[in-house]
Amino acid sequence: MSDSNVRVRFAPSPTGPLHIGGVRTALYNYLFARQHGGKLIFRIEDTDSHRFVPGAEDYIIEAFRWLGIDFDEGVSFGGEYGPYRQSERRSIYKEYVDQLLKDGKAYLAFDTPEELDQKRQEIPNFQYDASTRNLMRNSLTLPADEVERLVNEGHQYVVRFKIEPGEEVHVDDLIRGDVVIKSEILDDKVLYKSADQLPTYHLANIVDDHLMKVSHVIRGEEWLPSAPLHVLLYRAFGWEDTMPRFAHLPLLLKPDGKGKLSKRDGDRLGFPVFPLEWHDPKSGETSRGYREDGYLPQAVINFLALLGWNPGTEQEILSMDELIQQFDLTKCSKAGAKFDYVKGQWFNHEYILQTPDAELVPDFQKILQQYGIETSDERARKVLELMKGRVNFIKDLMPLCQFFFQAPTAYDEKTVRKRWKEDSPRQMQELMDVVRGIDDFSLENQEAVVHAWIEAKEYKMGDIMNAWRLTLVGEGKGPGMFDITTFIGKEETIKRMERAIEVLANTEN
Ligand code: GLU
Repeated sequence: MSDSNVRVRFAPSPTGPLHIGGVRTALYNYLFARQHGGKLIFRIEDTDSHRFVPGAEDYIIEAFRWLGIDFDEGVSFGGEYGPYRQSERRSIYKEYVDQLLKDGKAYLAFDTPEELDQKRQEIPNFQYDASTRNLMRNSLTLPADEVERLVNEGHQYVVRFKIEPGEEVHVDDLIRGDVVIKSEILDDKVLYKSADQLPTYHLANIVDDHLMKVSHVIRGEEWLPSAPLHVLLYRAFGWEDTMPRFAHLPLLLKPDGKGKLSKRDGDRLGFPVFPLEWHDPKSGETSRGYREDGYLPQAVINFLALLGWNPGTEQEILSMDELIQQFDLTKCSKAGAKFDYVKGQWFNHEYILQTPDAELVPDFQKILQQYGIETSDERARKVLELMKGRVNFIKDLMPLCQFFFQAPTAYDEKTVRKRWKEDSPRQMQELMDVVRGIDDFSLENQEAVVHAWIEAKEYKMGDIMNAWRLTLVGEGKGPGMFDITTFIGKEETIKRMERAIEVLANTEN
């Protein structure tokens, strides 16, 4: 299905690192844009200068680059509807605020914070709206020349949206259906502040969606309460015909209960809630990220895609292309999605299995280096081939795989008690001689020779293999014995056996 009129946007405010819920929102926008052959816009909503955090914008861009979510237009991507950073669009917003004022759909309000507080104390559940605005100091209650004087003398004011009571406002939501509210529950929202000469989120958001020809607004459920106001703004501007379709995505919930997923849940249960590690410039605090924790980007994408939507089949592993084909915005759930971070780890395991070993080598080499192990990429790859199925993260391969590269320095007590039997020293001594005699040290040949020897001697396969493993690995774990001996080689195999026999001779059993 190709519909080049589809234009969606991801519009974060750079107030800190991007939360994982925001990543899911961006992903759904991306899938929707791609499946319709439309465009995805990256807009920065930075009109609230007090909440601006340096570095946040670059962080967000880097996170999407890592995840493989690419944008067609926007900050750092260019495009014909720019600038895409709201702080660079002041003059544009001013024009639209003036239009609403001229049409009598908005008004100036001069009430100071103290005056507003005063009214809140006087009137229970005070709200600035049709029932109270006549009690306030604004351009509807003050004489025109007084308003002019206040403005000219530089008194600060805000522009408020004049909401008419008694109207039903319909938000036609692709996920939630027809959401209806009565206009009188809304307050006369501030659209613009003279103090910083900037619009508020609501005004800027609507003007930009209109000017950037946004066709669908796909965003988190937390924005649903703002949607009726947005619908009314579209109407006030006379833009009903091009009003975008809305889709408010389900919340991400705590893994272990009700309520919204928060950073604290991640800290408490030990999982990241940000795509990349974040260093807070103010507090100096570092928060963990999916990338640094060792997740593969495709695993994160697959995991997030299924939080709030599923293909309606048993299929759980979906590539980005499959997601683009199968994603259906209208089939997203209304109910919140539990953030099952353990499932996220499972996805990483599955993607490690799917990824060619050679591609995992650089990450594995980094971990090996931390253990002071220098080895060739080919040997690192071989260990990945043998062992990656056992872990959820590449970093978990160590110390699990240390024995491939370094001889054991100690022997696990429990395993010794269980596996190092009375006959073991003698049997291992014999086996050492057998190994010495193997010239063709290929896995197949070793296996044939050793098995033949066990059979001829009528030894128990388990006794031999378990004791042998203990000598080479230092404990009872690891892959097939001949995988180990082939990897470490004949000389090292013999060395390890000799040493184990010597050390274990002194243990009482
Ligand atoms: N700037 C808002 C945010 O930070 C955008 C909300 C919307 O998509 O309309 O999420």
